Amino acid sequence: MNSDVKLDIKTRDEAEFPGPSAAHLARGGLPVSTGITYRPYWWEAAPRPRVSLLLPRQTDVVVVGSGFTGLSAALTLLRNGRDVVVLERGDPGFGASTRNGGQIGSGNQKFRVKRLIELRGRAKAEAMLREGVRMLDHIEHLIETEKIDCHFTRCGRFRAAVQPEHYEAMARDMEDLRQIAGVESFMVPRSEQQTEIGTDVFHGGSILPQDASLHPGLYHAGLIQRIQEAGGHIAGNAAAQDISSNGDGGYSVTTPLGTIAARDVIIATNGYTDGLVPELGRRIVPIGSGLIATGQIPEATFSRLMPKNRVYGNTNRVFYYFRAAPGERRVIWGGRVGRLANNTSPLAFRHLARDMLHVFPDLADVQISHAWDGMIGYTYDEVPHLGRTAAGLYYALGYCGTGVSRATYFGNRIALQLLGRSEGRTSFDDLVFPSFPVHPIAKRAVPVVETWYRFRDATKL
Ligand SMILES: Cc1cc2nc3c(=O)[nH]c(=O)nc-3n(C[C@H](O)[C@H](O)[C@H](O)COP(=O)(O)OP(=O)(O)OC[C@H]3O[C@@H](n4cnc5c(N)ncnc54)[C@H](O)[C@@H]3O)c2cc1C
Repeated sequence: MNSDVKLDIKTRDEAEFPGPSAAHLARGGLPVSTGITYRPYWWEAAPRPRVSLLLPRQTDVVVVGSGFTGLSAALTLLRNGRDVVVLERGDPGFGASTRNGGQIGSGNQKFRVKRLIELRGRAKAEAMLREGVRMLDHIEHLIETEKIDCHFTRCGRFRAAVQPEHYEAMARDMEDLRQIAGVESFMVPRSEQQTEIGTDVFHGGSILPQDASLHPGLYHAGLIQRIQEAGGHIAGNAAAQDISSNGDGGYSVTTPLGTIAARDVIIATNGYTDGLVPELGRRIVPIGSGLIATGQIPEATFSRLMPKNRVYGNTNRVFYYFRAAPGERRVIWGGRVGRLANNTSPLAFRHLARDMLHVFPDLADVQISHAWDGMIGYTYDEVPHLGRTAAGLYYALGYCGTGVSRATYFGNRIALQLLGRSEGRTSFDDLVFPSFPVHPIAKRAVPVVETWYRFRDATKL
């Protein structure tokens, strides 16, 4: 699709305040005011829109949350003749949707195929896996038909085996995936790995050629533009503070900008879900996830490290993932962060630089320009959910860190369900949405579990 190549881009911040080198960040001991810009690199090309408006007194549908779920739902409703108001607590796109890595998968790698069959039975597993493939097609189709210029490309994914035994297990799983859901893939042994990635630390990997990438900031900005052109309203700094039934089958939603009446409400708050709807709050645990961006990497080094310019991930439980920014030789490297979110200290991102240098020691001298984080929404069964609460509110959330395609698709499907359209049905509709057994403990336990998984990844336990 969009193949613009803009090399040697320097942002204003980078030119004026060069950040530390990756080696320096990895070593630690940096002062907080260190030249790193603590906001998403994507916001340089897509600055946060400041949308202020007087809130209408009533609408057909209020959507709570302005990420991909909420915007995709809003656009679907608008295209079907409904009046829509999107409420956002921060600036529009404050949440994960403008902060993510822009890697687009199907979500089908969350479970081994055999494990998913054990958990759900063969027929349901097959339906869910096939739907994962359709989610990739859906986002591509949406971007094409809405003409959103966001560097969408089917670049393929290299999934690296961190331990030798992971390679064989992955090969078996890829074969199962091909048989049950027709997913195309191929394996790259360690001996040929350099054709895919310039490192020897992995034990080969798998390629999913249909996986894709985009610029999340531009995708989000494009959705906002289409919604506004279609007459939708997006209100920033307008948190939904209370939702009550207004007695005639509709709802009243209280915000700092006033109260709005709506026939229906969609909750699209994912990792930023709080106590607004306690029934959903008990079912989502937020987990912090962070990214760093490097400065431009010399041409010769870059083409050796990422010769195919794919998106990359690994097989560890505490996962890291990386890619180049579209049309640039800048690496965007992500992984979990210890504290929930809004970290503005080099210490919070040091492990990301360490992981990056473990894989690509050649990047030691490259500058780190940006570091940022956001919240992903985890569910107890590690599957996203959509449906209606006991009070009749619609919801779609819980993408467990793979949400670029899934949030877009779930937003569309929940909107179609609201419209009573049969195309809105999904194989996720009838899944029980479990609460976390002890939700406050689950929330606090995240850093401990994280440390355990890091230890386990490192020691092959
Ligand atoms: C650092 C990071 C990297 C990621 N990388 C990838 C990746 O490479 N590939 C991938 O597929 N997925 C990735 N993800 C996950 C993906 O970004 C999310 O699954 C997806 O964006 C979720 O979209 P959403 O619209 O459901 O939620 P969000 O985009 O998080 O939006 C929810 C919004 O709800 C708002 N909100 C909450 N409560 C209220 C309220 N009461 N009133 C009004 N507004 C409210 C929040 O402010 C927020 O803006 C990543 C996530 C993070 C944080």
